[in-house]
Formats: sequence, structure tokens, C-alpha cells
Amino acid sequence: MALIVQKYGGTSVGTIERIKAVAERVKGYRDAGNQVVVVVSAMSGETNKLIGLAQEISENPSPREMDVLVSTGEQVTIALLSMALQAAGVEARSYTGAQVCILTDAAHSKARISDIDDARVRADLNEGRVVVVAGFQGVDQQGNITTLGRGGSDTTAVAMAAALKADECQIFTDVDGVYTTDPRIEPKARKLDRITFEEMLEMASLGSKVLQIRSVEFAGKYNVPLRVLSSFEEGGEGTLITLEDESVEQAKISGIAFNRDEAKLSIKGVPDQPGVAFSILGPVARANVEVDMIIQNIAQDDTTDFTFTVHRNDYKKAKEILENTARELKAREVIGDDKIVKISIVGVGMRSHAGIASTMFEALAREGINIRMISTSEIKISVVVDEKYLELGVRTLHEAFNLAEAAG
Ligand code: ADP
Ligand code: ASP
Ligand code: MG
Repeated sequence: MALIVQKYGGTSVGTIERIKAVAERVKGYRDAGNQVVVVVSAMSGETNKLIGLAQEISENPSPREMDVLVSTGEQVTIALLSMALQAAGVEARSYTGAQVCILTDAAHSKARISDIDDARVRADLNEGRVVVVAGFQGVDQQGNITTLGRGGSDTTAVAMAAALKADECQIFTDVDGVYTTDPRIEPKARKLDRITFEEMLEMASLGSKVLQIRSVEFAGKYNVPLRVLSSFEEGGEGTLITLEDESVEQAKISGIAFNRDEAKLSIKGVPDQPGVAFSILGPVARANVEVDMIIQNIAQDDTTDFTFTVHRNDYKKAKEILENTARELKAREVIGDDKIVKISIVGVGMRSHAGIASTMFEALAREGINIRMISTSEIKISVVVDEKYLELGVRTLHEAFNLAEAAG
């Protein structure tokens, strides 16, 4: 008998028919002798709809009330799925995040799980029940409802699996695994049988929303066996996220990620002197705006240009801050562009292979795609390009690194 935590995303519970299909699948696992805990998201589109309602009232609603609001989507699906299980003859019980004591910090809309009290869930499992838990939500020390950030049900599932020491955490979604890149952008993308935690973490951080970043962090930290599978198809093995396996010859590049949520800002003609980076980025950080890539050009005439990227949602705010800084520093001008994207190639095999960057840059050049910024780390290379080149850029790199064909 195994203990399995399964998570079903928004599309997988998007209609009553789909919820009934999920109940049948869960019943299958239970009837095969497994103990099953199910984590569900809100029905697809629901969380966005709730956010839209709040925005009709205020541009800047209270973070506490936002979490009370957006957490309701998952309360609907836990009840409906439990009813569907019961209708299929399976004993089931639903719980909100607060009811199973998914304890988090108080950072509304991006809370981190600190503890889970698994007693109630274990008691139900021992009674032979399927336990259905609301994803995405928790409760802070003061009893306030919190949420874990968009896509947070993945993290709820992995955290439940870690707390229960489950044999596997299965993420059921609308694709049958993790692909070399988003199959919606490149139909030739290939499903990976395995990917390392390290690579998956990099892919997720660089924009592949198939798994929430924190869920991968959590799975790596607590060594939770994690698998991504299709909720629409039967019998596939999906993709297993594993520790690095040194016996397997690593492909140089295992995937391509991209992020559309980027914007770039430049401040030009700032004095080239100590402390200038701090004067520019200090106020940005104080406004809670996260900065991703940073470039400072070599100085000419004792002045320099400084460019960085932020989340597109923070673009306006960051630009206003930078314009103030520009006045203080007597900089020449501030320019911005929120029609850019970041495309990244990821692979642990990159460490031991020279020439990956030149292959990447050559392929983009051949298609006339201008690279606006570059950043590298041990296992990734990212470039910023104009938004209109997203599809072409991803497909060009997929081709250049032969990702449609399995390695070796
Ligand atoms: P869910 O609602 O089940 O959580 P998501 O929409 O969050 O589903 O994640 C699944 C989607 O992730 C897929 O439909 C796919 O378009 C997208 N995706 C992005 N990158 C990848 C990738 N490398 N492999 C598979 N899917 C990806
Ligand atoms: N319903 C939440 C969202 O749309 C959480 C999730 O789906 O994982 O982001
Ligand atoms: Mg998701």
C-alpha cells in the first residue's frame, strides 16, 4: 500500500464533468489499495475572475481581504470533488487550508508554508477515507487566511507530501509531462521522461509555469518524489523530477524557458562614481520591486548607462522611481520598454561544454533577432529580445540544440 498525494490543476477541475472524471481516477488509485490525498485548484478562470471583482472596487485592495477572496475558488472545488467521490461510492472529506493547519507566515498573496499538522489527515486516511485539501491557501499564526502565490496549489501538494512522507507527489495537469519547452509555443517540443530538481527549478524560475517555483524548491529540499502527469490521458508515466543521476549521459541543454512578464528600464548619462548602483537600485528595492537582470555599461566622458529588468506589473512604478532618481543624479534620460521577453536555455550538461553560448547567439543572429541583454549562470543562458520574436526565438533555439530528438 502506498500513500500518494495527487494535485489536479484548474483545467483538470474546470467543469462538473471534469470533476467527475477526477473522482473516477482517484477512485481507481484508492481501489488499487493506495491511500490518497487530493489537492485541488480552483476551476480554471475562477481565480482571475475573483481578482477582477476586487479590481472593480479598488485599484489597491487590502492584501488580507484579497486572500479571503481569492482563496474561495478552492473551497468550491474541494466540496464538489468530495461530493463526486461520495457519489462514486468513495468515502471522502474536504478540508480548507486552515482546517488542516497549513501554517504560513503572514506575507499575504505570497505566503510561505512553515508547518503542517498532519494529524487530521492521517486519522481520515486510517479510516479509509480519501482526503481532499484546498490548494493555494493557508493560515498565519493569527488565524488570517493567506495564499501562496499564483500556481500555489503545486506547493500545497508537495508540502502535504513532505509532511505525510508520501511515496509520491503526482501533479496532474493538461499536459502529459514536462517538455523541452512549452508545447503551446513549439509543437515539436518533446516530453522528458526525467529532469533534475536543479534544472526544473531553473526552468520554473525562468518562466515555465508548469510547476510553481516553490513546489520544486520544496520537493528538492525534502526529497519528495515528484511527477507531472496528464489528467486527460490514461496510463502515461509523465515526467519524474529526480536528483542528478551521474550515470546518465546528460544532454547539454534540456529545455528552453521564456518569460513574458518582463520590462526593461535604462537610466542614461549617470555620473560614473562609487555608490551609483546603490543610488539607482536602493529606491527600487525599498518600493518592493524585484530586479532581475542588471547591466552597467563602460563609462564614457565620466558618465555611464545603467539598465535593469523588472516584472511588467512593476514597470510603471519602477519608471516613476527612476525618473525621480534621474533628477537627483542629474542623469541625461530614462527610457523604458515593456514589450520585451526573456528566453533562456537550461541544462546541467552546459557546465562541461564550451560553445553553447555561441551556438545560441549564432542561431538568433541568423534569424535577425537582436539580443538586448544577456545573463548567464552555470546551468543557464538568458537573453532579452523584443516581444515579437518570442515564438521565432524559442523555435529557433529548439532547432539549434536539436531538442526534438532524444539525447544520445
Ligand atoms: P494547472 O492549471 O494544471 O496548474 P498550468 O497551466 O499551471 O496547469 O501548467 C500547465 C501548462 O504549463 C501547460 O498547459 C503548458 O502550456 C505550460 N508549460 C510551460 N512550459 C512547459 C514545459 N516546459 N512543459 C510542459 N508544459 C509547459
Ligand atoms: N487557483 C490559484 C491560481 O490560479 C492556485 C493554483 O491554481 O494553483 O493561481
Ligand atoms: Mg499551475
